Amino acid sequence: MADSFDVVVIGGGPAGYPAAIRAGQNKLSVACIDEWKNRDGTMSFGGTCLNAGCIPSKALLESTEMYHRLQEEFPVHGIRASGVSFDVAQMQKRKGGIVKTMTQGILALFKASGVTPLQGHGKLLPGRRVAFSAPDGTRRELTAKHVILASGSAPIELRSAPFQAPHIIDSWGALDLEAVPKRLGVIGAGIIGLELGSVWRRLGSEVTVLEALPDFLPTADQQLAKEAARHFKKLWLDIRLGAKVTGARVTGSAVEVTYTDSKGEQSLTVDRLFVAIGRRPYTGDLLSAGTGVELDERGFIKVDHQCRTGAEGVWAVGDCVRGPMLAHKGKEEGVMVADLIAGRFGEVNYKTVPSVIYTAPEIAWVGQTEEQVKASGRPYKVGVFPFLANGRARAMEQAQGFAKIVAAQDDDEILGVHIIGPLAGELIAEAVLAMEYSASTEDLQRTIHAHPTLSEAVHEAALAADKRAIDSINR
Ligand code: FAD
Ligand code: NAD
Repeated sequence: MADSFDVVVIGGGPAGYPAAIRAGQNKLSVACIDEWKNRDGTMSFGGTCLNAGCIPSKALLESTEMYHRLQEEFPVHGIRASGVSFDVAQMQKRKGGIVKTMTQGILALFKASGVTPLQGHGKLLPGRRVAFSAPDGTRRELTAKHVILASGSAPIELRSAPFQAPHIIDSWGALDLEAVPKRLGVIGAGIIGLELGSVWRRLGSEVTVLEALPDFLPTADQQLAKEAARHFKKLWLDIRLGAKVTGARVTGSAVEVTYTDSKGEQSLTVDRLFVAIGRRPYTGDLLSAGTGVELDERGFIKVDHQCRTGAEGVWAVGDCVRGPMLAHKGKEEGVMVADLIAGRFGEVNYKTVPSVIYTAPEIAWVGQTEEQVKASGRPYKVGVFPFLANGRARAMEQAQGFAKIVAAQDDDEILGVHIIGPLAGELIAEAVLAMEYSASTEDLQRTIHAHPTLSEAVHEAALAADKRAIDSINR
């Protein structure tokens, strides 16, 4: 096998593997190195996202939402079901099957685009050389015209509550629980805490979420955050804000958590404590001395707006560089870099990276929040349309939440779209496309939306921005 490639990618997650595939499509010789090891000792491409992140979490969210709806909504539809129960082992088996199919699919995609998969550890050496070590101890040195670093991220450990499996766990542990904990403590009311907290709450866990900040979802549009908090309360997710964890002690089969909040010192006893306070860039044993690749003060690999590091021919993409830690952001960066290497056009529009929280109701947004637009001083207008007035949402028995559009007063440009409601994560795609094309609310107003669909809520929100909504009262 040739040890010289046009491109070597280190990391086969959603940033690295698309970079490798696009490089192959661009007729470049390419190898993709990945060291991901599963709990059973097997190795697979796909990184955090496919193996222990996006995909397994969505599999469990889907199963548990179905169970929850069966309990809460089916009677309203006139469907009576008795003796309904769930089987965590089967849910986990289904989740495992989906992960396996998708991660093995990457190998088929590699084959189709001529990518050489190398399972093992990669380390960048000076001069665009890469030291590859296979699990059996075999070592090879690869040379490349270009190296793409896509080493991803790892969960942040909390000093006052260090991981201690099986009691104090990270998101991978929370995805793999074999039984429903009677009491689950979650530290961090961020995306992971809310998604996986919802999974176990729906199956009956008493879930208490301790969040250090005084505000809930502080980076989201605040009207949306308030609506979300209301719904999580209804699900009986006990979210305690302004809670600073001071310690966690495993005592027998329980965990005693101590924290302080505005009322003073508090304690909480749970069966499992799940720490979800964010992720940090992972660059463990990735860079040897003298490569010219630099890290910033938070450990991210320093890159320019097109993901070039300070070393000639070395690029970095995904969670290991600045920007939101999202699979689709990493994917676009990987594809951009593989195109730039091939001399093609490549760009990522960081202003239109959508965020989705896959809870029920789902939460999604793109662009600026109303608070950000207000702070910018640019005159703006807002259109909000409630799903209560949307026929499809009514028919689905999911008439909760709203679609909100923030647009410029002067030229009508859409600046931000915020949706909480059924399938918000799907609906946001229209807003992303609209913003990508610098659309105005008038463009959306004049776009025909099929009836009855959830997408009419986005259409009506655009109309509401000019007080011209048809299906709700304009305020
Ligand atoms: P990773 O996916 O972390 O992949 C990096 C890969 O590189 C890994 O396989 C690692 O083993 C390998 N590697 C690292 N160093 C080396 C080395 N030196 N040699 C060889 N291999 C190496 N994002 C979303 O957009 N949507 C979601 O719904 C979503 N859900 C999530 C749910 C959970 C529970 C978690 C934890 C994350 C979720 N994310 C989600 C975030 C998403 O998983 C990350 O943003 C994404 O995986 C980042 O992709 P990446 O390729 O940069 O890194
Ligand atoms: P996050 O940054 O979304 O949330 C972490 C939360 O923990 C924040 O609210 C923070 O204030 C809080 N926190 C931090 N330190 C704390 C402390 N000591 N005590 C209590 N609370 C504390 O991080 P996450 O939820 O761990 O997710 C990590 C990354 O994974 C995110 O960047 C996210 O983008 C990505 N992710 C995305 C999705 C999705 O797209 N649906 C799903 C899961 C994860």
